[in-house]
Amino acid sequence: MPELPEVETVKAGIAPVMEGQVIARADVNRPDLRWPFPTDMAARLSGQRVLGLRRRSKYILVDLASAETLLIHLGMSGRMLVSGQKIGAFHHPHPAPAKHDHVVFHMENGARVTFNDARRFGAMDLMQTAEQENHWLIRDIGPEPLGNAFHETYLIEKFKGRNTPVKSALLDQRIVAGLGNIYVCEVLFRAGIHPARKAGKISAKRVAALVPIIRDVLSEAIVAGGSSLRDYRQSDGELGYFQHVFQVYDREGADCVTPSCNMQIRRIVQSGRSSFFCPQCQR
Ligand SMILES: [Zn+2]
Repeated sequence: MPELPEVETVKAGIAPVMEGQVIARADVNRPDLRWPFPTDMAARLSGQRVLGLRRRSKYILVDLASAETLLIHLGMSGRMLVSGQKIGAFHHPHPAPAKHDHVVFHMENGARVTFNDARRFGAMDLMQTAEQENHWLIRDIGPEPLGNAFHETYLIEKFKGRNTPVKSALLDQRIVAGLGNIYVCEVLFRAGIHPARKAGKISAKRVAALVPIIRDVLSEAIVAGGSSLRDYRQSDGELGYFQHVFQVYDREGADCVTPSCNMQIRRIVQSGRSSFFCPQCQR
């Protein structure tokens, strides 16, 4: 499932062909994905100039000249493919229209941006740009982890008295936006905190230390994603799914990367999801 850095990478990949450009025509090939598409979506997108692309949590927001914003959620398996015109490094011939190509943006510049989603957990919606923060998918989301509203005092306050495991607290989108299972595992390893430790029982000093670690882990992954875009020629035009080197995620039974540690990474299941951690380095 794409997490914040992957969404950021997809956004960076489609921005060069969409920003400032006109959507000559939008093809909407089915009535819904996870939820029904908004009324007249194709007509509301066709002919619109794209003012800019933003990201909020794991959503890509496409601001249109009509004062509407298109929200794109990649869901579990949603992918963006760029094809058509040679612009920058993102030129790729697109294979014949696939059955999972649900929405296609034909840009006036000749580029084509395709949303392909085999499992259809993705979503698209249109809203008034000015009403963005009131959209039902956005209104309850906490601050952006890379933004100024997310800071040490804030996180200490949010963790205070909380009886849930720190893993669940960091996955709680009302506390901080966009963190998913993979990066929370990595953050907790770097912080030396056991994923089952109760959030409210962690000292303020250790909670505060989580903030720069979260920023670092996400920023490093975004940089890795940016590099993957530059090395893109060998791929088939798919954006955002790059190979990471994780320290604990999906490494059950492998040696801990801490030089002084001779333990193996363990996996436990919390709220139905795997947590990977080192029992020696994380307390
Ligand atoms: Zn270790």
